[in-house]
Amino acid sequence: MAINFIYPQYEVVRNYDRCISCRVCERQCANEVHFYSPESQKMLVDESKCVCCHRCVSLCPTRALKIVKTDHTFKENANWTGKTISEIYLQAETGGVLLSSMGNPEPFPVYWDKILINASQVTNPSIDPLREPMETKTFLGKKPGRIERSADGVVVPNLSPQLELDVPIMFSAMSYGSISYNAHASLARAAAALGTYYNTGEGGLHEDFYQYGPHTIVQVASGRFGVHKNYLNAGAAIEIKMGQGAKPGIGGHLPGLKVDPDISKTRMIPEGADAISPAPHHDIYSIEDLRQLVFSLKEATSYQKPIMVKIAAVHNVAAIASGIARSGADILCIDGYRGGTGAAPTRIRDNVGIPIELALAAVDQRLRDEGIRGQVSVVVGGSIRNSADLLKAVALGADACYIATSALLALGCHLCRSCQSGKCNWGIATQRPELVKRLNPDDGSQRLINLVAAWDHELKEMMGGMGINSIEALRGNRLMLRGLGLTEKELAILGIKHAGE
Ligand code: SF4
Ligand code: SF4
Ligand code: SF4
Repeated sequence: MAINFIYPQYEVVRNYDRCISCRVCERQCANEVHFYSPESQKMLVDESKCVCCHRCVSLCPTRALKIVKTDHTFKENANWTGKTISEIYLQAETGGVLLSSMGNPEPFPVYWDKILINASQVTNPSIDPLREPMETKTFLGKKPGRIERSADGVVVPNLSPQLELDVPIMFSAMSYGSISYNAHASLARAAAALGTYYNTGEGGLHEDFYQYGPHTIVQVASGRFGVHKNYLNAGAAIEIKMGQGAKPGIGGHLPGLKVDPDISKTRMIPEGADAISPAPHHDIYSIEDLRQLVFSLKEATSYQKPIMVKIAAVHNVAAIASGIARSGADILCIDGYRGGTGAAPTRIRDNVGIPIELALAAVDQRLRDEGIRGQVSVVVGGSIRNSADLLKAVALGADACYIATSALLALGCHLCRSCQSGKCNWGIATQRPELVKRLNPDDGSQRLINLVAAWDHELKEMMGGMGINSIEALRGNRLMLRGLGLTEKELAILGIKHAGE
């Protein structure tokens, strides 16, 4: 008899007084947890397959279900936790690399939660955003060092191509393949309605979404999937992906099982073939090589599109950022270690990279110190969870933020962290037609629009309370922030004072 070393993480609790055996839960669970037993004439479960996605709970018509974390426990201690023990059992069973999805869940400090925002009192009065104009429009791209005039005094336009954002929020890279067609449709429509941008990720651009080109950032990653001249010219900007926060230093892998005819066509790879992005770009081994790609892409698009370079937040991020600013790139994107993903090796997700808050502050300071801050706009992502995180990021020096996990939550994601299985019960991280159709792009885009509109409203309220009426005046304004419970070193890196100072 096989020994089962791992006890299920969750227990499915069914209130049989309420259950009417309608079998909705059985039909809704792609993990096949619920089943009807004709012998006992009632619903039963195989809890070992439950990932706590709450789909069945949300759709049960009689509220008969709840999912609880099991109180079964190993004889654990602070060193050998139940999680560590389970992982060893699992690897002893499979011999494989542990895979996870979404962002780093470890209890490292969340610096956003240790930073507080200033508000006006008595002098420098606050501003009422309902009665007075508040500007959150943002332009991303290289800013000229000086205004040029012709001999007769007329201003000579010397502004590089810019991205114009009505709100300082964009949807971060998520490829078609890692997320569904309907999730992409929701993001594309919402970006267009909000006056901002979504990002193709490394999966190419489905032909149906070319219509959203003016609100699309097209990505060029190491696998170069789906990259061709029309693709490059279809987007409003091109992002070169050098790294991502969830898995710095490694490439990507979309299993062949997910490469259906549509994805194969979009990515320009054979149907059913694994889509493996190498860890490095095989033509980039230096900033000079990166510069060549930046200018190749500018050439390919007649110098009409800003070029973005995305990196993961790592130890020497400020020096890398300085090189990227000098490479000719227009926008630098930094992804912190809490950034989500569809699939990453668990050890890398949980142990590699640094917090976005520290990376952002270090980069902004370095670019200012070197007098090159205007050469690139800085966009940050990696778990921007709410409008306060957004405001703090801008005050630490960001021009705008990328959101992805928050956007997926708006679409219905329940953070079950099993995207790698391809069985997303909410129709997001899946290619199974019967699951994809659960996400209605009309509803999805409206929920995204609502979320971003709410954040923008809150952002304006907080800015008003600070006596600031434009995002320009907030950017890099670290005087508006105070740290709480941080060490001198942390405060020095963040460039902020402690509360009470
Ligand atoms: S959905 Fe609710 S009522 Fe229907 S079978 Fe499942 S638990 Fe019972
Ligand atoms: S995996 Fe999701 S749908 Fe299935 S039983 Fe668990 S919570 Fe319910
Ligand atoms: S996208 Fe789907 S599978 Fe991934 S964490 Fe969210 S609900 Fe779970």
